Amino acid sequence: MLTSAPRGTNDFLPGEVEKWQYLEKVIREICSQYGYGEIRTPIFEHTELFHRGVGDTTDIVEKEMYTFEDRGERSLTLRPEGTASTVRAFIQHKVYAQPQPTKLFYIGPMFRYDRPQAGRYRQFHQFGIEVFGSNDPAVDAEVIVMALDFYDRLGLTDLEVHINSVGCPKCRLDHRKTLQEHLRPKMAELCSLCQSRFERNPMRVLDCKNPKCQELTVEAPTTTKCLCPECLEHFEAVKKYLDSIGIKYVVNERLVRGLDYYTNTAFEIVARDIGAQSSIGGGGRYNGLIEQCGGQPTPGIGWAMGLERILLTMEKQGCKFPEAPPFDVFVATIGDVAKDAAFQLLAKLRKAGLAAEKDYLGRSLKAQMKYADKFKAGFTVIIGEDELNRGVVMVRNMAGGSQEEVALDKVLEYLKEKR
Ligand code: AMP
Repeated sequence: MLTSAPRGTNDFLPGEVEKWQYLEKVIREICSQYGYGEIRTPIFEHTELFHRGVGDTTDIVEKEMYTFEDRGERSLTLRPEGTASTVRAFIQHKVYAQPQPTKLFYIGPMFRYDRPQAGRYRQFHQFGIEVFGSNDPAVDAEVIVMALDFYDRLGLTDLEVHINSVGCPKCRLDHRKTLQEHLRPKMAELCSLCQSRFERNPMRVLDCKNPKCQELTVEAPTTTKCLCPECLEHFEAVKKYLDSIGIKYVVNERLVRGLDYYTNTAFEIVARDIGAQSSIGGGGRYNGLIEQCGGQPTPGIGWAMGLERILLTMEKQGCKFPEAPPFDVFVATIGDVAKDAAFQLLAKLRKAGLAAEKDYLGRSLKAQMKYADKFKAGFTVIIGEDELNRGVVMVRNMAGGSQEEVALDKVLEYLKEKR
């Protein structure tokens, strides 16, 4: 147990972690272009925040949270997602008093007690964005466009955007009634989860993955059939914006978010070829959420994507990752006196911004040269005692194999010029 990480968690070691750094770099670039500022919130929050902000009837809150009591007997929960904390911070710091809309992004670990499998972990990482303070359908379209732009920058292909509208609480009342009437005669045949959803969250029956439930609900009325005129207009406007710049999407009337604070647009991005866990991102509008979490009524919309799944998809699709930047110098030594000179030279090189390394295990020159290969350094500086007495060192250009004697106090200038 001591030598393995908890189930459903991962270590990312050098060699792999560079891929994460690359993702984070692309994220920061795209966010700054689309006008998003980064927010960093605590890893744990008051449990109540997620009951309010995610919803008591969701799988996350019902079954998946890491909840614990601290020594002051407060109930705290490791965040299972990022929206609730972002909303909390927006209210707490009165960000609403600044010119609106507020556009925020976050990157960080999330925690869910899920059944681990490929693409599904207990600690995973999300990149998410939230826009507060505008109900303009152009914002709905823009966040979808931004998600696709991000995937495109990573080189991902073969993705599908599914969109839907779940309407507003007003038109959802109609839908709830019509849907329940439709489902009532089939109740006994629905799965037990759907039966339990019948009263508290009937809309979720539409996206049940159980084949029998899917078959029974083929003809069931979807939310889009019950939209009120304003919600219909909003949905049409979102689609028109997407059409206007040639974005392809699929209207998936079974894509639902069952809670009252979700409104209008819902969307999901699916990678067609990564197997069971094919959702690589999803989100939607939540005009009721900020009020639900204790703020003033404020429209909002956002999405989150799983970075592990994005990396899996990138690997599967053979997307390119950038090469590691070249390492500059390895300093090899012969004899003890040379070690002191190497130590001082390294300090000087690094201070000047070069990447430099030496041996710390007393290796022979031959073994040092072998060890140097690991760094793929452009140059090796060899410091020998005899040369040191003459104030010179040998500098080998690893690419060409040529070597030159250089005055020790000129090594930095020499490397800067040649590198
Ligand atoms: P959600 O917050 O459930 O809408 O999830 C948003 C995205 O996070 C999904 O599309 C997945 O890419 C990712 N995700 C959700 N749960 C997990 C998990 N347990 N492990 C890995 N990625 C996840």
